[in-house]
Amino acid sequence: MTTAPADILGLPKPAWVDDEVGMLYDMAHRFLSEEIEPRYEEFEKKEIFDRESWKKAGSAGLLCASMPEEYGGSGGTFAHESAIIEAISHVGVDGFGIALHNSIVAPYILHYGSEEQKQKWLPRMASGELIGAIAMTEPGAGSDLQGVKTRAEKDGNQYRINGSKTFITNGQLANLIVLVTKTDPAKGAKGTSLIVIETDEVEGFERGRNLDKIGLKSNDTSELFFNDVRVPTSNLLGTVEGEGFVQLMQQLPQERLQIGTTAIAMCERALALTIDYVKERKAFGKAVLDFQNTQFKLAELKTEVTIGRVFYNDCVARHLAGGLDPVTASMAKYWLSDLQGKVVDQCLQLFGGYGYMNEYPIARMFRDARVQRIYGGTNEIMKLLIARSL
Ligand SMILES: Cc1cc2nc3c(=O)[nH]c(=O)nc-3n(C[C@H](O)[C@H](O)[C@H](O)COP(=O)(O)OP(=O)(O)OC[C@H]3O[C@@H](n4cnc5c(N)ncnc54)[C@H](O)[C@@H]3O)c2cc1C
Repeated sequence: MTTAPADILGLPKPAWVDDEVGMLYDMAHRFLSEEIEPRYEEFEKKEIFDRESWKKAGSAGLLCASMPEEYGGSGGTFAHESAIIEAISHVGVDGFGIALHNSIVAPYILHYGSEEQKQKWLPRMASGELIGAIAMTEPGAGSDLQGVKTRAEKDGNQYRINGSKTFITNGQLANLIVLVTKTDPAKGAKGTSLIVIETDEVEGFERGRNLDKIGLKSNDTSELFFNDVRVPTSNLLGTVEGEGFVQLMQQLPQERLQIGTTAIAMCERALALTIDYVKERKAFGKAVLDFQNTQFKLAELKTEVTIGRVFYNDCVARHLAGGLDPVTASMAKYWLSDLQGKVVDQCLQLFGGYGYMNEYPIARMFRDARVQRIYGGTNEIMKLLIARSL
């Protein structure tokens, strides 16, 4: 990869960044810098992206890069997804919700969908015609997903779905939703099923507010309501009902690792921007970098980000080899997102008052970073999972 922010660490490229992955990173970086970055301020103000940007990303090959070519994807792996996510954070357009679409929603369809479902949905996800969301969280069930109340009742060859979801990323734009429902509430987790809703094809589906967040402004986050929504029973993911919880658990390592991708890439960008700034900014007749406090702070941060990057690279290598266990994935999610919070906070401090001004990217990074410790399973839940392995 020829990345300015990542190069700041001076690390050798890991083996999983082969020429193809490196080229994809460069292409994604160029596309995002030329097509998305100039309009990013507008999306941040409107608190939503437009569909055109998704379609452009699809044409550029940035959607479903790790889906097989026969389903419209590029036939890549998580290494390719990592390259795209890193480019998003290095360019600084973190609100573009394609990472969730690519490496969380599409894999559910690839891994658990029937041949017919894959043919039906994946090519349109790859083109940007369909925008994906995953709807787990409800007003009364966040960390404790066993408490999901959304109900799918079988009625002939249809499911009748009732319930509500909240905090759903891409919730305003999404027209393909992987919905976590209870098909048999009496069975608890074993009565949970994943059902795909193509929102344009159903009645009784409503979007609530585009929620007013403190960061990631351009990424729409919504409440969703299902009032007697009917879908064919063939929209179930998997061959039998009740597999939803197991499916969620199987996909969690990649979802958690992906939060680590954003975290490490944002740390690198924060470091790069801050080093540039303190070299230029003068106080008491010298550059801010000349103060020993600045040097020590940045020396500490560079060391920690390097440790984080090495750990991240190792997690990706293990994931590609099929061996990233849920405990290590939880460590990556928790530790890298904690590191991100610390790095952007301490970098912001070195910008002085300018760091608090929204026109400086570090201010936005500070706001955008906060949620990383909350979504995808809070960092407290990550520690619970790690503790169970002790
Ligand atoms: C911007 C944003 C985007 C999101 N996107 C999505 C999405 O696309 N799809 C989706 O389904 N969800 C999404 N979420 C929801 C997110 O995953 C949940 O907010 C998260 O899992 C926490 O659930 P909660 O908010 O209900 O908090 P709660 O579960 O109520 O937790 C409150 C506090 O209690 C702590 N806590 C809870 N249980 C324990 C325990 N056993 N031990 C110790 N501490 C505990 C938590 O760590 C937290 O600090 C999103 C959230 C945000 C903010």
